[in-house]
Amino acid sequence: MELEKRIQGKVLRDEPLSKHTSFGIGGVANYYCKPKDEGDVRTLLSFVRETRIGLKILGNGTNILFQDDGFRGMVMENPFRHWSIEEDVVTAGAATPLAILISATVQRGLGGLEPLSGIPGSVGGALITNAGTVAGETSQPFLSLRAFDLDGNPVELKGEEVQFVYRKATLPKPLLIKEVSFQLTPKDPGESEAIVRDLLRRRKETQPTRVKNVGCIFKNPDGDHAGRIIDELGLKGFRCGNAEISRVHGNFIVNRRGATAKDVVELIQLIRDRVLQERGISLELEIEIVGAD
Ligand SMILES: Cc1cc2nc3c(=O)[nH]c(=O)nc-3n(C[C@H](O)[C@H](O)[C@H](O)COP(=O)(O)OP(=O)(O)OC[C@H]3O[C@@H](n4cnc5c(N)ncnc54)[C@H](O)[C@@H]3O)c2cc1C
Repeated sequence: MELEKRIQGKVLRDEPLSKHTSFGIGGVANYYCKPKDEGDVRTLLSFVRETRIGLKILGNGTNILFQDDGFRGMVMENPFRHWSIEEDVVTAGAATPLAILISATVQRGLGGLEPLSGIPGSVGGALITNAGTVAGETSQPFLSLRAFDLDGNPVELKGEEVQFVYRKATLPKPLLIKEVSFQLTPKDPGESEAIVRDLLRRRKETQPTRVKNVGCIFKNPDGDHAGRIIDELGLKGFRCGNAEISRVHGNFIVNRRGATAKDVVELIQLIRDRVLQERGISLELEIEIVGAD
């Protein structure tokens, strides 16, 4: 039976990935799937196994650069957008936007997620990338997660079963995260709101807004800031095609309408080469570049 008829959600064929990422870049995915519920997710996972195609799970698409030749296989959103609070633990579906969760927990007088303010990702994406700011990272309030392995079996991981380092979580095997629980602490909403406001203000002052981008391109090297180094080397404003090193923040590349992944990759290489040459530092990517297969 055709995949479209096997699930209640949507299957889009040859869907441009540029429509689903904050960079607005990327070729087509053979299958772009929007499952409606857990049953759909299991059906899609079995289709991937049967047909042996590649699978990429997508959150809000704010840390991913898909290549111009797209993705041969299935790109899958996830349908889990619920959240609930029990005492001082919040449990949220992986697709829940961080902003919604932060606002809901702050209003209930629970602190712990404010450091993630302004990060445009989903709960699942934040977990996988151990997203964070100067104020803290996702690993800190992390308590547990529920997920599916790629055979569709339920998996639960707690505390140290997930290993976190700077901007990366290591899971024991590839998983589709369904929901994540965070341990919060009672906190005066006014105090939390002040932290949120301060982080959002700083972001507005130091980062490009209103242009398509994927946040910081490189991880900060030990004891330094990638953006500061790029700025010092006079690289702000450099372009490859329609991709430009932001004039506002050196660690951002912006899509000046119509940039291709090739433009971005060339610019990344240019920055890496110059930083290695001039500073002897090998910059590591913070964003994920996903190839066709
Ligand atoms: C303007 C801007 C500012 C940013 N600022 C910050 C910042 O301050 N700090 C920071 O850390 N990041 C920042 N980012 C990057 C990005 O927002 C974070 O990395 C975010 O956590 C990614 O979440 P996402 O839902 O968009 O994930 P995606 O980009 O969709 O995916 C990221 C990874 O997670 C995987 N994934 C997503 N959901 C699931 C799931 N349910 N199950 C299994 N795997 C999954 C994907 O396969 C992929 O490997 C910024 C980005 C932008 C555009």
